[in-house]
Amino acid sequence: MLQQTQVGTALPYFREFLKTYPTLESLARAQENQILSSWSGLGYYSRARNLHRAAQIVFERHGGEFPRDYREARQLPGIGRYTAGAILSIAYGEPLPILDGNIRRLFARYLKIEQDLGRTGTEELWKLLTELVREPSVAKDIGDFNQALMEIGSLVCTPRNPQCHCCPLAESCRARKEGMQEVLPRVRKQRSSQEFHYTVALISRGEEYLLKQNSQETFLRGFWEFPRVGGQPTPHIAETFRKVHDLDLKVNGWAAPVTHQITFRKLNFHPALVALQSPAPEEHFTWAKPGENDYPISSYVRKILRNVES
Ligand code: SF4
Repeated sequence: MLQQTQVGTALPYFREFLKTYPTLESLARAQENQILSSWSGLGYYSRARNLHRAAQIVFERHGGEFPRDYREARQLPGIGRYTAGAILSIAYGEPLPILDGNIRRLFARYLKIEQDLGRTGTEELWKLLTELVREPSVAKDIGDFNQALMEIGSLVCTPRNPQCHCCPLAESCRARKEGMQEVLPRVRKQRSSQEFHYTVALISRGEEYLLKQNSQETFLRGFWEFPRVGGQPTPHIAETFRKVHDLDLKVNGWAAPVTHQITFRKLNFHPALVALQSPAPEEHFTWAKPGENDYPISSYVRKILRNVES
């Protein structure tokens, strides 16, 4: 949950998740729909799918115990070099390094690395850390060592205004010595944000809405959404819905648009309040209360409903 997400945001989800899936077995046996529902609002849903699949593999192939072996751990979905190192060093005391954004920044400053820490620079850091954690004095408390690096990186050697005056590494930090702590690390240009527009059709029947499962796009895959078409509203929108979804609609009005950010994509949704003129095709569609366990929804659907129902 903490990948790309702050602790404060993840904490209530984490607590609720543990209540719903208190054991590895309960997680392994759950349906993907239920997991996505529990995750709904946290975003980056591949994390939830990977966690689910990893729990199933650990349950089926490893007797319910997370593997101690690095190569076996790396074969689990969603377990990369960093996560395997973090779990195995903290849980089992294996002398493995970890390198996340905080630690990369910390070392870029501590060692005064001036080159852009792209892929090659990061590889060199991994090598250096791998040697460092094999030192007996580090290896004997590897879990504490790795956690200390993460904490110093996130709380002391912060992206802006690093707290050098209270940093335990200040004496030997090269960036601090040369007054370069504010300019390092050199940052690559961020991928620019892309903007997308969609028109969605809100078709209600009592408390239920007509929903369609997203089985196409990589983002929001598996979620239930209002039928949507690409682009901003046009006078011919009913015709577009007929072509794309085989739905016969009459537009009665519009609700306030909502925006939703997924990584570099800024998604703008324009909700049309519509009436069905003839029954919806049965395949792919369902009438449901959005958010019910079997029908996980993205938080953008929730935002639209809040606007419509308030
Ligand atoms: S002394 Fe300053 S720049 Fe160096 S590691 Fe500590 S907080 Fe970061």
